Amino acid sequence: VKDTKPNYLNGLNAAQCQAVLHEPYSSLQILAGPGSGKTRVLTTRIAHMILEHNILPSNIVAVTFTNKAAKEMKERLKKLIDPKKVEGLIMGTFHSVCIRYIKIYGKFLDPPMTKDWSIIDASDSKDVVAQVCKEDSGLKGLADYSRNKISWYKAKRIGPDDLEDIAEATTDKFEKKQLKQVAYVYEEYQKKLDKFNCLDFDDLLIEGCRVFEQVPNAKSNIRVMLVDEFQDTNTVQYDLMRLMSRNDYVSIVGDPDQSIYGWRAAEIGNLQKMKKDFQNTSEIYLEQTYRSSGAIVKAAMSVMSQDKTRPEKELKTDHPEGSPVTLKEFFDGDSEAYWIAKEIKRQIAYSGNKLRYEDFVILLRFNALSRTIESQLNKMRIPVRVLAGTKFFDRSEIKDIMSYLTLLINPSHTPALKRSINVPKRGMGPKSVEDIVDISSKAILPPFTMLLDGLINEEKVKGWKASWKKLDAFVYPLDESRQALRNGKPLKSIVEKLIADIEYESYLKVSCSSEREVNSRVENLKELLSFAATIDDDFNQGTLFKPDEEFDSVKDQNFARLGKFLEVSSLDVSFNTEADVDEALGKVTISTIHSAKGLEWPVVFMPAVESGVIPFFKADTEDQVREERRLLYVGMTRAQAVLNISHARSRLVAGSMKDRCLSDFLKFARNLECYQDDIMLIDDKLRSQLLSILNLDYPNKEDLKAAINEFEEAFKVDKLREQQMKQNERLRNIDGEGNDYNGYHEYDPDGY
Ligand code: ATP
Ligand code: MG
Repeated sequence: VKDTKPNYLNGLNAAQCQAVLHEPYSSLQILAGPGSGKTRVLTTRIAHMILEHNILPSNIVAVTFTNKAAKEMKERLKKLIDPKKVEGLIMGTFHSVCIRYIKIYGKFLDPPMTKDWSIIDASDSKDVVAQVCKEDSGLKGLADYSRNKISWYKAKRIGPDDLEDIAEATTDKFEKKQLKQVAYVYEEYQKKLDKFNCLDFDDLLIEGCRVFEQVPNAKSNIRVMLVDEFQDTNTVQYDLMRLMSRNDYVSIVGDPDQSIYGWRAAEIGNLQKMKKDFQNTSEIYLEQTYRSSGAIVKAAMSVMSQDKTRPEKELKTDHPEGSPVTLKEFFDGDSEAYWIAKEIKRQIAYSGNKLRYEDFVILLRFNALSRTIESQLNKMRIPVRVLAGTKFFDRSEIKDIMSYLTLLINPSHTPALKRSINVPKRGMGPKSVEDIVDISSKAILPPFTMLLDGLINEEKVKGWKASWKKLDAFVYPLDESRQALRNGKPLKSIVEKLIADIEYESYLKVSCSSEREVNSRVENLKELLSFAATIDDDFNQGTLFKPDEEFDSVKDQNFARLGKFLEVSSLDVSFNTEADVDEALGKVTISTIHSAKGLEWPVVFMPAVESGVIPFFKADTEDQVREERRLLYVGMTRAQAVLNISHARSRLVAGSMKDRCLSDFLKFARNLECYQDDIMLIDDKLRSQLLSILNLDYPNKEDLKAAINEFEEAFKVDKLREQQMKQNERLRNIDGEGNDYNGYHEYDPDGY
């Protein structure tokens, strides 16, 4: 026993130290509320395992909720201990960890995985399901529903056959029919994926399980495992954790109050299950929370404690009360957005410029709410980073180029073929592609291989009007890329040449509606090239591949560089082009609450806290409503010092103006001391409404009047813009629940 505490324990409280020092070869649950240092403890525990127990980093698997969280944890770890001692640590989301093991051990599976498989992204996967539904008139309109259900069942490790059995056993006629339909679509969808040699995001986890079930050797180098945000694991992730861990040596951290992925089949029951399945699971509770001010903690607890089914728990903090949580009411969404923008500027000025833009976040229940706010912030020249916006790799110009490259790795990827063969336009419609696919399935060769090897020609496709010259313009550049790849040329130059050879920029010039659009797309392509360059750098420094990734030949390894490039693009949703960051002040973050999990900011805005938004109108069971409440709680507890909650009396929803009211979750709050109730109204058109509200019994009428005048002034200039925005908004629909593919499900967006 050493008599001096190691440095890495500095600043941790007794319970946190206990959790860090707890025997590494054991099963451990650390349960605690938001901001209690769970993630910090997990990180420090890794340091402790490496330094005190001499566990090799390459024998440690740490699972985080998002890729971004993994990066952050690695950075934190490098501050705690010598960065050299962290090398080789296996850290990432369940998805990225699975890819790694499938790559190494997939060939030993029965049936084996070939090495040219690829990941099908969310939108292509949707298209494949839509295709299945189109082929059978009885399935019209079922595509989105089926796609969600397929994911749901995959998360529970229920295959198409199992689902068929479940349908058989169902007595309710309607339900039976629906289950049968989904089972059918599921099965056909799987067949298509097989044919394309693709795995979807859910398959990555299922195949990962298969690896650990069938290849005993796969876990030989895993000594201990750690999992963050355990409350949001689903069945397949839990199985994976069981299968990967040797002797049940797993430490998890979690908080049942923050489980917000039930709608994605996360199983809160996994906490209990682990205690049953794993030998001698110890539990450690952390009680102190360090993130938020006293008022914010109280306000958050006042929401959480309304859930009467939850075991009573308090969140303790020694922090001072700080400023009360503000609760503001606005006339409509535009005035709310205007206020947020102004308030950000005001708070920065008020802090004597100590606060920077990057200290602010605006948290939303779903993506569609961001548009009004984004445009208002843009207008006031506040730089924004949208965590849940169109992801870099989802942009059409990036997807176009990526589909070309995908074909070089996976010539069976028909969706990629469909996309690339006619971009730029070459007169190759879906019919031509079908012909190619037909011919190739008769020849039992992947479609793109047939094209590349010149096996599809005029004699083969009779009556085809396609221009063979144009087809050459598609195949020839890719042939060149293949050659260059084989010869080990840098990726950057390969991608650059491909873009030039297919004359992509000229295509942009004719297909974009403005020069600005062309420029912005060209900028994105440049960004793609610099991303390729980072892969080249990693390759040259020998850090691109892990030591246990083996290749049969140099050629294989040369192709694998491209594989890595594509893999990051489909998994790393957080890839951001930060080129235009205002260095001095950073950027304000706009994010869904789901994407903000585990993160913190000094100042948080939560607009649109209204019935129908949160709880979301689709939440109709009590369990779903409880999950919505936890979501609000997760959002509120992201705030360190200032929390601004707001709602509007009317808002454009799916194209029409609707009356709104404050969320039921906060109705009671106006009576609590930790909230500062405040109403702000603006609209010079509707004075009568204004007056009726002024007659309400609000305490600070003078301030209110001043505020109204100010906003009215501002809004006169903004009338035109306002009208235009409303028109635009009408065209958009609310896009469902929160953020697509986030969290452990995140192959995108930021995490996961
Ligand atoms: P969440 O549930 O939201 O993921 P968490 O429990 O993982 O929260 P952390 O993110 O690890 O919490 O920590 C929250 C904040 O509190 C961080 O800024 C962290 O540095 C700080 N913190 C943690 N422990 C202590 C401590 N003992 N003293 C001071 N600050 C601490
Ligand atoms: Mg955390």
